[in-house]
Amino acid sequence: MREQYDLIAIGGGSGGLSAAERAAQYGARCAVIEKGLIGGTCVNAGCVPKKVMWYASDMAYALKNAPDYGFELSINGFNWHKLVKARQGYIGGINNWYHTYLKENKIGEITGSASFIDANTLDVNGETYSAKHIVIAPGSTPVIPGSPGGDIGMTSDGFFALEEQPKRVAIAGSGYVAVELAGVLNALGSEVTLLVRGHYVLSHFDVMLREILMKELLSVGINVITNTTVESVTKTVTNDIHLSCNNNRHYDGFDSLLWAIGRKPNIEELNLEAAGVELTENGAIKVDEYQNTNVPGVYALGDVTSKVPLTPVAIAAGRRLADRLFTGQTRRHLDYENIPTVIFSHPPVGTVGLSEDGARKKYGSEAVKVYQTEFTPMAYAFTRHQPKTAMKLVTVGKEEKIVGCHIIGTGADEMLQGYAVAIKMGATKADFDNTVSIHPTSAEELVTMR
Ligand SMILES: Cc1cc2nc3c(=O)[nH]c(=O)nc-3n(C[C@H](O)[C@H](O)[C@H](O)COP(=O)(O)OP(=O)(O)OC[C@H]3O[C@@H](n4cnc5c(N)ncnc54)[C@H](O)[C@@H]3O)c2cc1C
Repeated sequence: MREQYDLIAIGGGSGGLSAAERAAQYGARCAVIEKGLIGGTCVNAGCVPKKVMWYASDMAYALKNAPDYGFELSINGFNWHKLVKARQGYIGGINNWYHTYLKENKIGEITGSASFIDANTLDVNGETYSAKHIVIAPGSTPVIPGSPGGDIGMTSDGFFALEEQPKRVAIAGSGYVAVELAGVLNALGSEVTLLVRGHYVLSHFDVMLREILMKELLSVGINVITNTTVESVTKTVTNDIHLSCNNNRHYDGFDSLLWAIGRKPNIEELNLEAAGVELTENGAIKVDEYQNTNVPGVYALGDVTSKVPLTPVAIAAGRRLADRLFTGQTRRHLDYENIPTVIFSHPPVGTVGLSEDGARKKYGSEAVKVYQTEFTPMAYAFTRHQPKTAMKLVTVGKEEKIVGCHIIGTGADEMLQGYAVAIKMGATKADFDNTVSIHPTSAEELVTMR
């Protein structure tokens, strides 16, 4: 039987849910098709479980510093199983909340994998559903390399399914997932080796961030090996993982290997040819600034478009699309410039706008002026481990408009959001200077830089 909707979202993750939710608020008849767990990557295998693990690791670092503040502690170990159980209980609550929310708001929840029959019609488990508007939001999947023995390693999905804490882990990758999970595992007591393909971690970020983060990773005891590509993986009968790398180098003694080398758009099951939807060269769904695909009535958003793969971006794009489709706001769309983001490393990184290099390329070196500072925050003035904080403002032109703000250090994650508002509004260095600082904080350095 064919069921008819105004809008169907393929994928019950951040993007699909937000488009359907907003459209339903305007009275549209909506459904979400989800083949896995409701909430998608963010809730089940991304932001949420990651942040829980980050809180745990942050606590571990605080415990290390506590004796310097006079606490006489005895720690009787760390129970991975207990933490994972609590985390999964919390996530189960979010899943249930979504089921109830969809029901209460009369948004259909269809379970199964969606594939196109034509531009307005989808098949799910042999049932047919059609809609005037179809939003493709199936997200992405972590990549496992095709190299020999690649499948001996797990991905971030496997990390969140671990019931036992790995003791000696190799992590291949240099992006945000690699540095975040390296920090978590190290703080919780695993021995971590990070295998980085280039010279640095976070190669797409401002040079100050990647240099300081590299130093911090090394200073907490993470073994960072640069210019390394894993070419093949083998496992001995005693479950020892052995890595063969470029330049005839070999590393062994690991009980786990984690690939954090990128993600690919989930398009295989969609039968996009039936709708005629075009892809980019990299296999992402091609969209314009309004999230339109090349097929009228078919849209795509979130990770499947490979544009800024972040939860709030997928949500914002979904909401704006629904505003445009159901309220006649024909120009409504997401502006992808100046999107703030945080890397939950230790210490965390907060960044918005252009890197120093990016600004010099865009505006020419003459037009760019940079303000930068590096210091030990007061919290670590007398602790044994003293992670640094560093900040950079990238300004352009005579008026010194701020086009980039980069922070690494304790509190950067919570600090950035407010500054991102100011930068989105076009703040200049003089606006920052005219703002009275809050003392004593690390954040005040951003409005007192010379
Ligand atoms: C380890 C990790 C940590 C992260 N941390 C952060 C963070 O701290 N902050 C942040 O902003 N972002 C973070 N992200 C990124 C964030 O999770 C994604 O950007 C976001 O989930 C993308 O939303 P989406 O709707 O595009 O896709 P998803 O949330 O992945 O949802 C897509 C859904 O579609 C379903 N699906 C796929 N194909 C089909 C089909 N054919 N039929 C039906 N259903 C289908 C999938 O099962 C999935 O549930 C993290 C990601 C990872 C992996």
